[in-house]
Amino acid sequence: MDRIQMKTPLVEMDGDEMTRILWQMIKEELLLPYIDLKTEYYDLGLMHRNETDDQVTVDSANAAMKYGVAVKCATITPNAARVKEYGLKEMWKSPNGTIRAMLDGTVFRAPILVKGIEPCVRNWEKPITLARHAYGDVYKNAEIRVPGPGRAELVFTGEDGAQIRELIHEFQGAGILQGMHNTEKSISSFARACFNYAVDTKQDLWFATKDTISKKYDHTFKDIFQEIYEAEYREKFEALGITYFYTLIDDAVARVMKAKGGFIWACKNYDGDVMSDMVSSAFGSLAMMTSVLVSPTGVYEYEAAHGTVQRHYYKYLKGEETSTNSVATIFAWTGALRKRGELDGIAELTAFADRLEKAVTDTIESGKMTKDLALITSLENVTVLNSRDFIRAVRDAMDGACS
Ligand code: NAP
Ligand code: MG
Repeated sequence: MDRIQMKTPLVEMDGDEMTRILWQMIKEELLLPYIDLKTEYYDLGLMHRNETDDQVTVDSANAAMKYGVAVKCATITPNAARVKEYGLKEMWKSPNGTIRAMLDGTVFRAPILVKGIEPCVRNWEKPITLARHAYGDVYKNAEIRVPGPGRAELVFTGEDGAQIRELIHEFQGAGILQGMHNTEKSISSFARACFNYAVDTKQDLWFATKDTISKKYDHTFKDIFQEIYEAEYREKFEALGITYFYTLIDDAVARVMKAKGGFIWACKNYDGDVMSDMVSSAFGSLAMMTSVLVSPTGVYEYEAAHGTVQRHYYKYLKGEETSTNSVATIFAWTGALRKRGELDGIAELTAFADRLEKAVTDTIESGKMTKDLALITSLENVTVLNSRDFIRAVRDAMDGACS
C-alpha cells in the first residue's frame, strides 16, 4: 500500500513522561505505516527546554504561526519538586501558557463519545464543546485585604492625566477588595476564534455572561460578540444553518443540563475553568477529551486535555505494565492531520484521520479498552489492555478496515 504523501509539515511538539512514550508508540504503530509523515520536530521535553533556556518553546510557537498547524504532547509545568527532580536552571513557565500567549488563542475542548461510556447527564447525545477565554478577569486581578474603615474607589488615569473615578464602597470596618480588567483586543480575538470554530465545525454557538448585573464589564463582552457577529459572521452562519445564541450565564447552565449537546459553549475565563471541569467529568474522562488552541488568525494547535500521567510513567520506568489511555493523544494527531489535509487539499489525509478515529471508537465499543475506561464502562465482557496492546488493537482495527 502506498503511504499518503503530505505537502506542508506539521509542527510536532514532543513532551514528557508517559505521554512521550505513547507519542512514540502512536507514530510507530498508527501513523508511519500509513503516512509519509512530514513534521518539523521540536522537543519540548523538560530537559531540552532547560538546555535551550526554554527557547525551544518559543521557536515551536513561531513555527506553528509559520505553518498553521501543530500537534503537541503533554508537557511538565515545573514546580519546586520538578526543579529538584530534573536539576533545572529555573522554574520554567508552562509551555501551554507561553504558546497560548504567543498565539493569542482560545482553547476548545470536546469529549470523544463512544458507546459504553455514557455521560452522567442522560440527555447529552452529542458532544458539548467548551470554548474558554484564556486572558484576564480574576486571573489577572489586584486584591486588597481592607484593614478597617475607609473609602474604596476605582480610579483610571488616562495618558493625558484625566481621571475617571467610581466609588466602590465606604467601608465601616474591615473587608476585601478586588480589581479586574480585560481588553477589547482580547475579547474581540476570543469572539472571532469562537465564531470561526462554529463555522469550521458547523455547530451552533452559545455565549453567556452576567450582563444584567455587570452592566459595563460583562455587557462589553456581550456587545463585542454581537457587533462582530453582525459585521462578519451573520451571513456565514445563516448560509450554514447554524445560530449564535446569547443568554445569561445562569440560564445557559440550566439549558445545558436539558440540552442534547452538539453545540459550542463559549465562556468567560472563570466560567470556562469551572464549567469545563463539570462538562468533562460528566462526559466520563479527561483521557477522552480533545483540546485545540485556535488563534484569531487561524493557527491550530492540537493536544490532549490531560497531563503527562506521571504516576504511570514511574511504573513504566520500573518495568511494570501500564494501561494508559492514548485516545486523547491519538485524537490530537488526527485533529492536526485532518486540518492539514483540509488546508492542503489532500483528501486521503482527511479520510485517514476519520478512519483512525473510527478504528479507536470501534476498538473501545468492541470491549477492548484501557483500565480507566474499564472502570466506568457499561459494556460487559471487557478486555483490559496495556498501553501498547491497546494501540496494537487499534492498528488491527485499521488494517481490518483496509483489507
Ligand atoms: P495527569 O497527568 O492528567 O494525571 C492525573 C491522573 O489522572 C493520573 O494519575 C491518572 O489516574 C489519570 N489520567 C490522566 N490521564 C490519563 C490517561 N491518559 N490514561 C489513564 N489515566 C489518566 O495530571 P497530573 O498527574 O496532575 O500532572 C502530571 C504532569 O502533567 C504535571 O507535571 C503537570 O504539569 C503536567 N500537565 C500537563 C498538561 C499539558 O501539557 N496539557 C496538562 C495538565 C498537567 P491514576 O493514577 O488514578 O491512574
Ligand atoms: Mg479547572
